[in-house]
Amino acid sequence: MTDATTSSPGAGRERAAAAAATRGGDEPLLFVEDLHTYYGESHALQGVSLRVHAGEVVCLLGRNGAGKSTTLNSIVGLTPARSGTVRFDGEEIRRLPAHRIARRGLALVPEDRRIFAGLSVTENLEVASPARPARERRWPIERIFDEFPMLAEVREQDGATLSGGQQQMLAIARALAGEPRLLLLDEPNEGLAPVIVQQIGTLIDRLAETTTIVLTDQSVRFALRHAQRGYILQKGRIVYEGGAQQIAQDPDVQRYLAVA
Ligand code: ATP
Repeated sequence: MTDATTSSPGAGRERAAAAAATRGGDEPLLFVEDLHTYYGESHALQGVSLRVHAGEVVCLLGRNGAGKSTTLNSIVGLTPARSGTVRFDGEEIRRLPAHRIARRGLALVPEDRRIFAGLSVTENLEVASPARPARERRWPIERIFDEFPMLAEVREQDGATLSGGQQQMLAIARALAGEPRLLLLDEPNEGLAPVIVQQIGTLIDRLAETTTIVLTDQSVRFALRHAQRGYILQKGRIVYEGGAQQIAQDPDVQRYLAVA
């Protein structure tokens, strides 16, 4: 009896350590290595490598056309890479079709939001929810409406009639409904008023408490306020990597970025 009570926490830790060793020790949640993606003959990603650990918020920065969206789209299989490695939680996913990658727990909120027209806000959320009873879901619709009061107010409205800010909130909420372990946000502030940008920043900070996030943004200041670490892309290559503070303070960084 004493054996059982005294040895189980240690045994648990040992099992966890053994499992971690099997996965390669400090395996990041997302491991991207030497990714090459083409549009026809145009070589858009030229060897992108990055790591995201569970619990982090990581930003991808770079000028227009640097390859930020292509990187996210390649990770989730919407613009499949021609070569390289994408591992999620230790599993190679690069050759999987996009819907199977999504099922493993990666959710992309695309730049153009892709709200379903003709469906209400609630229906937009329902189509993305797992087919389990609400009480067994991490993000049942009522919890989403608690988190996004702005959406609760317009729950019966056609998604296509929402404002830009409401649509962005709905796009993020819809991604959450699918219970992602990694949330990829492509320029969540694109075209939105400052007051909405502030709300999205607050939301990202709150979601970061439970969800790993990769974020792209044109506003370096916004991205670095909400991310702990960042990568800078230029012409399809990672040219800089560092902590948010380091990126914010390094004068050399500005030459890679359009916005100071
Ligand atoms: P932005 O902030 O403007 O979205 P980005 O950093 O996300 O820029 P990408 O959209 O990934 O950059 O574009 C990377 C390169 O790939 C650019 O040269 C772009 O013109 C090209 N590209 C992107 N999408 C396509 C496409 N569908 N067909 C052909 N080329 C594309």
